[in-house]
Amino acid sequence: MTSSLQKEPGSLKDRLPAVDSSTGSLPILESYPDFHGVRLHSLTRPAEYRCARCGGTCSSALAATSDHHGAGALICPSCYGVFVESRVRG
Ligand SMILES: [Zn+2]
Repeated sequence: MTSSLQKEPGSLKDRLPAVDSSTGSLPILESYPDFHGVRLHSLTRPAEYRCARCGGTCSSALAATSDHHGAGALICPSCYGVFVESRVRG
């Protein structure tokens, strides 16, 4: 099951974005290191986007991209936290 961990840097833009508000349209201030295929991004201002994991509309100055929910998929900070916790706990 190692294939899911392999990813190409350019693959994010090759697929259809899950939502209109991909990271390309988000005002990203800073991106944090990749964590098991998920990255947290700090935005310059709150942005509204749809979470690919819980399906909720999120308005936050934080957003995460997840390779596990479709290339370029955005997930909300809550779901990011849940994901990280599940990975940390193994
Ligand atoms: Zn969510």
